Amino acid sequence: MWVQLGIRYKVLLLFFLLSIIPLASLNAVWLRYSQGQLKIAAADRQSVLVASIAQRINIALDSQIDAVVSTSQDGEVISLEPSTAQSKLLQYANETTEVRRVVLTDRVGKEVAVIEDGAVQAAVGDSSTSEAFEVVRLVSNRPLVSAIKFDEAVPYVTVSVPILTQGNLGDQSFTTIEALARRFSADIRGALIVDISIEEIWTLVSEAKLGDSGYMYLVDSGGRVLIHPNQELTTERRDLSSNTEVKDVLAVLREFDLDAVVKQFKPDPTISTSETGVAVLSSSFPISQTRWGLVAQEPISSVYNSVNRIAVTALTIFLIAVPLMVLLVLGSARTIIRPIRQLSDGVIRMSSGDFSHQINIRGKDELALLAGSFNAMSSNLQALLGRLRAQNATLETEHVKLQAVLNTMSDGVIVLDGQYRIVLTNRTMASFVRAKDSKELYGQSWLSVFNLLYEEKLFTNEQLKKGDVAYFHDLSIRIGDEQRYLDMTAARIYNDPSGIVFILTVQDITPRRELENMKLDFVSMAAHELRTPLTAISGYLKLIDESDTTAEDRSSYIDLASNNTRMLEGLINNMLALSRIERHSLVIHKLKLNWTELVREEVHSFQFMASTKSIELITQVPDETLFVKGDDMALREVLGNLINNAVHYSEDNQKVTVTIERTGNSVKTTVSDHGIGIPEPLHSKLFTKYYRAKGGLTTNSQGTGIGLFISKSIVEAHGGKIDFTSTFGQGSNFYFILEEFKEGEDRQQINSDGTIMKGEQI
Ligand code: ADP
Repeated sequence: MWVQLGIRYKVLLLFFLLSIIPLASLNAVWLRYSQGQLKIAAADRQSVLVASIAQRINIALDSQIDAVVSTSQDGEVISLEPSTAQSKLLQYANETTEVRRVVLTDRVGKEVAVIEDGAVQAAVGDSSTSEAFEVVRLVSNRPLVSAIKFDEAVPYVTVSVPILTQGNLGDQSFTTIEALARRFSADIRGALIVDISIEEIWTLVSEAKLGDSGYMYLVDSGGRVLIHPNQELTTERRDLSSNTEVKDVLAVLREFDLDAVVKQFKPDPTISTSETGVAVLSSSFPISQTRWGLVAQEPISSVYNSVNRIAVTALTIFLIAVPLMVLLVLGSARTIIRPIRQLSDGVIRMSSGDFSHQINIRGKDELALLAGSFNAMSSNLQALLGRLRAQNATLETEHVKLQAVLNTMSDGVIVLDGQYRIVLTNRTMASFVRAKDSKELYGQSWLSVFNLLYEEKLFTNEQLKKGDVAYFHDLSIRIGDEQRYLDMTAARIYNDPSGIVFILTVQDITPRRELENMKLDFVSMAAHELRTPLTAISGYLKLIDESDTTAEDRSSYIDLASNNTRMLEGLINNMLALSRIERHSLVIHKLKLNWTELVREEVHSFQFMASTKSIELITQVPDETLFVKGDDMALREVLGNLINNAVHYSEDNQKVTVTIERTGNSVKTTVSDHGIGIPEPLHSKLFTKYYRAKGGLTTNSQGTGIGLFISKSIVEAHGGKIDFTSTFGQGSNFYFILEEFKEGEDRQQINSDGTIMKGEQI
């Protein structure tokens, strides 16, 4: 993943990893820490506030209730004398601004005095059924305090105390509780019912502020709302006893000696759920005088408000700053990335072979230095490439030349590298191994090529390493049907920088070998050929010499002996001719020859030989006599060779025809037989020196293999042409064409070197 990223994204990612992530983490830690601190501070603040307000409510209520209790214990009030009580109560009402209405009743609830709006009112009512009057029947050590009521939106409570007979102790240092505690020992004479405005407490509670949106509310001992900033809850007197903080304070309010508990009480702000279902930091404090509970609560969000505001501000700054920083990073990264990109582009172009590319990076930093080095390197490489190309072209030309030279060589050449693989070879070598092209052999191991030819696999790499030069003689290999003989020389090259290690020269010695073999065959055949007629001649001479031989037989033996002599003569003539041809000393005397007659004579001289095989030897000559220009002896030899072969290579009882005819200015002589014929593949070799067709053809046949070679040499020395047509198994037609003699032409001599001598020169 990282590897595939472009450098631009890597820089960005690094920027994120190294700056933004730590920054964000730091911010989160700071936020968490600050929230904790704020919560502690808010809890402290709340504890102090709730305690102080509860204290102030307590004090306010205490003084009011104390005033009611002390008024109820005034003698003039206890007397229930309307006139005196009225003035006393009026004085009390006027002295205390919170007092809204004062009612004094007798023990059955009949009103004795009523003070309202700062004046005495007619006391005509009956309070016996009022809630406040219940105080005369309650067994309690406290005055009865009503729930909060409203009069023209002014909140007030009704505080009622019983009027006791012995209320006035004449001692001003009593406490309410002490006074009330004694009431059972006295008669209850009536009740004092006072409506006291609690506007101050109301304001205290409803306007108390905790942080941004914190507030306080007051509940009675049953958990019902007395004062709540939410007017609706106040009006409904909503029961909040199920709220955690209300539950807590209600438990405290149930304590008997509440005053003592309150003195020790410490608010404990905890996080709970408010009546509206939001998380709040809340605490409560009991009001001992009235057994009310003061609850303070501040939404956690508001507690954290300040820090959240800072966090939001930080986040906003962060969000604005990040893109700006990214832009800034990218902008500054561009100055680094661009040169890197230029460098990487340059390297890519260079790797694809473009060395002309130059990188333009200004400045003096490392990248600029690198670009400078890169440019220098690419210039050097380009120059080097140019030189290498030129060298390569030269090398290629040299290689082509070398290959051309190698290809013209008649010897096969193979160059091997250190791994014995062919790195160079020529056409001759390719032809030795029957490869289409020398290139086909490149890269192959020489062993794979040579051991393919030699099934015995006689070659090993070690053989090449034996000395500086290793020789392999007379390697007989079979290529297809052909048997060939090779001589090979392997020269070792030491420390050659080109990596060439061996040069193998392969010479095809097959023709030489064949010639040698044919020569050997020739010698044994010639000896055999000479001995056969000689043996015959000596045999016939003995028979002639015998006494009982008849004259007729004698004549026949003489014919036979002379025929064999003719054969001997022909053989010796052939050998002499061959020797002359080989020494280039064959001389042809071209004279006017009566060809018709010469052919008749020659055919006649073979009649006897043909008759021994019952072969019919026929001459076909035109009516007119044909003359040729030629050497009598030499042409007789040609004709003799062809007739001899035709008889020789025919079965008994067959026909041999010698035909002469004029063709233009030439005379064509054909010797046709119906003998064994010559297989097509051997046609091209027939006129080769010592060549004798192998296989069935030469089985039991005699011959030296020089007859046709000599005939061809003689005919060609005459400027003529010799050839044949033959179908294997059906027979052959050997023919030669000679120049016809025209009257008036000089006699001439053609030397074997081709020079012509005429008339006197001869
Ligand atoms: P050879 O002394 O063997 O006859 P030549 O040079 O006269 O030598 O002939 C060469 C070979 O050509 C012979 O060995 C023979 O195989 C073949 N040949 C020549 N003439 C004929 C022919 N008329 N019919 C068949 N084969 C022939």
